[in-house]
Amino acid sequence: MRRLAARYIAGETLAEALAELADLAGRGHPGILDILGEHVEDEGAARAAAGAYGDAADAIADAKLDAYVSVKPTHFGLALDPRLCLELYAALAERCRARGIFLRVEMEDHPTTDATLALFASLRARFSNVGIVLQSRLLRTPADIAALPAGPVDVRLVKGIYLEPAAIAHVEPEPIRAAYVECARLLFARGAHVRLATHDDGLAERCLQVVREQKVAADRYEFQVLLGVREELWAKWRRAGHTVRVYVPYGPEWRAYSQRRLRKNPQILRHVMRNAVGLG
Ligand code: FAD
Repeated sequence: MRRLAARYIAGETLAEALAELADLAGRGHPGILDILGEHVEDEGAARAAAGAYGDAADAIADAKLDAYVSVKPTHFGLALDPRLCLELYAALAERCRARGIFLRVEMEDHPTTDATLALFASLRARFSNVGIVLQSRLLRTPADIAALPAGPVDVRLVKGIYLEPAAIAHVEPEPIRAAYVECARLLFARGAHVRLATHDDGLAERCLQVVREQKVAADRYEFQVLLGVREELWAKWRRAGHTVRVYVPYGPEWRAYSQRRLRKNPQILRHVMRNAVGLG
């Protein structure tokens, strides 16, 4: 499992994650740092996660890397106590702002959507260095875009990794793609910075069409990709002049994340087995 994880995870320590970011920077890719973990069970674990993120943000600034931090709300205790979660995000946003670092609030499954959007609205009222994630899979997302805080916003647009019930979500691939393009269109039209987080090249092409139609400036969009996933695409997009930012997860809790990635692409297992016996 560890061998398989190596493809998707920078390692267990901050030092390993920084080395990965530096390597990516050398290849022309800015980065995103994610400490693996979610659904902490007590306040102490939430505070420990927030401390680790603060150290990570400082280390990014010290190393002068073009990278930022990205946090799941339940890693900071959203499911335990939304006030604790807001307190920890606000303290991290403050620490990041002092060092010129951006902070992304990630989006988890639908029972957390309202609380996550409320969290973002509170943070955005005080900090301009904070952004959000929206999921095209959810039927509510166009309305959520309309209700975003006024003024500039920075949104990572994803399909959504959590399989949601048909009553509240698109469940087939093409409607999820069509909704993604429509959400991108709505976000660009309202002046948002849009981070197109996908490895679906057909979908990316449809979004680039919107970029061209709306004459969106190059600094208002970028592609975001997961470490270890479809590197041939990153190169293609970079050659075409687009920014490709890479999401770098690390931490001791790598096992659950790697299992999720493997479920997405069981082919990886075959490649690793072949390499292990010298056939790769
Ligand atoms: P797909 O159709 O799933 O994939 C397109 C192609 O890429 C397929 O060939 C597929 O096999 C391959 N591929 C895609 N993902 C993987 C993988 N993990 N391993 C191996 N091959 C793969 N979701 C959330 O719900 N909340 C978030 O906060 C969030 N943050 C994200 C941040 C980044 C930077 C990225 C890239 C994704 C994030 N996601 C998040 C996940 C996202 O919602 C999708 O589940 C994921 O990107 C897969 O969808 P896709 O658009 O790449 O298309």
